[in-house]
Amino acid sequence: MTDQPDWFADGFKHVWLPYTQMQTTPPPVPVAATDGVFITLSDGRRLVDGVSSWWTACHGYNHPHIREAVAEQLGRMPHVMFGGLAHEPALTLAQRLSALLPGDLSRVFFSESGSVSVEIAMKMALQFWINNGETRRRKFIGFEYAYHGDTIGAMSVCDPEEGMHALFSGLLPEQHIVPLPRTNDEFVRFETFLGEHAAGCAAIIIEPLVQGAGGMKMHTPETLARLHQTAKRHNLLVIVDEIMTGFGRTGSLFASEQAGIAPDIVTLSKALTGGTMALAATVATNTIFDAFLSEDPEAALMHGPTYMANPLACAAAHASLDLFEREPRLDQVSSIEKHLREALEPCRDMAGVVDVRVKGAIGTVQLQDFTDHDAFKAAFVEKGVWIRPFGDIVYVMPPFIIEERELACLTGAMCEIVGDWSVRRSES
Ligand SMILES: *Cc1c(COP(=O)(O)O)cnc(C)c1O
Repeated sequence: MTDQPDWFADGFKHVWLPYTQMQTTPPPVPVAATDGVFITLSDGRRLVDGVSSWWTACHGYNHPHIREAVAEQLGRMPHVMFGGLAHEPALTLAQRLSALLPGDLSRVFFSESGSVSVEIAMKMALQFWINNGETRRRKFIGFEYAYHGDTIGAMSVCDPEEGMHALFSGLLPEQHIVPLPRTNDEFVRFETFLGEHAAGCAAIIIEPLVQGAGGMKMHTPETLARLHQTAKRHNLLVIVDEIMTGFGRTGSLFASEQAGIAPDIVTLSKALTGGTMALAATVATNTIFDAFLSEDPEAALMHGPTYMANPLACAAAHASLDLFEREPRLDQVSSIEKHLREALEPCRDMAGVVDVRVKGAIGTVQLQDFTDHDAFKAAFVEKGVWIRPFGDIVYVMPPFIIEERELACLTGAMCEIVGDWSVRRSES
């Protein structure tokens, strides 16, 4: 960076960045503003955003409808506690989410982050069984390559690598993490595993159709449906983590819809407010909810984040849902999908490319022995795009409102930089 604004150098000494080795990683890129699909840097350059701010900004940045809704709520009541007090934005949002979600998912517990919504889902599942007198169901079944968040409980159901299971062993609850079955043989093995272990487990937890932060690994709706069926046959609850996939990302409003499954508990966050405010929801069926009804206070769900159901965030979520109703978001996702399939296909034949995967508005190129993350990031910025590779993948998840021209900037830069890498790699 040439022109650093004055707030940068002094302030940077005092922040601790996410997922960052602070000794070796180049400093972050100072941003001045965002608008639509653009991120404006402090030095005036504009980048086309390929990440949607960690998959949240599905309508692009600064959407006037969301801004107005939040501003209006800000004038009336920015926040009020949710313990003992109720407010319209939260109650109508709960009603609205229930109507949109598949099956009988109709009780909404609000929180402020995806990880916390997963913790809550896990507590709901464990206590559901306890309240039903089944006290031996203490574990969860998760999948390799899964990512469910960074808090302790959520980490325990992540892929062992992603969840730092070795580093934190002894602290993390031990769960069963198994390969996600896709073929018949794998389902036979999964079934055998469940036969031995399901009785000691409360639930399976899965990211539907796309495992995101674990490397954009994809499975078909048929696989998801079969997993759901298999788990149900073994009397397990099914927690579906739609934090990344929810709100259109995979082509339907929720990924679960494509498999026609009705989960017991769903977690939502990321695009819930269209990328404007921190909000999450854990949504349970009536059957789950009813198991907590009792004369016994201890049968209640003991959880209550301070900023639970923050009215500003709820107002933003309402406005985001309005946009899904009024604007052709799912059609936009299918156009993006078509573009990604065509534009990323040439990467498949490049040396060192392991796989190219597209689902909805998610496009991924998986690389072999990939370690050039920082160099890629810098090269993308030079090309005028914001793309942030992680693990062994380079991916885009653009805002749904992106125009063909800007989308072509993203995929063009991806093909070019992966291409250069591939050539360098073959030469050395
Ligand atoms: C991002 C993510 C989470 C964690 O959400 P935070 O808001 O970052 O805590 C959990 N599950 C999935 C599938 C995610 O993509």
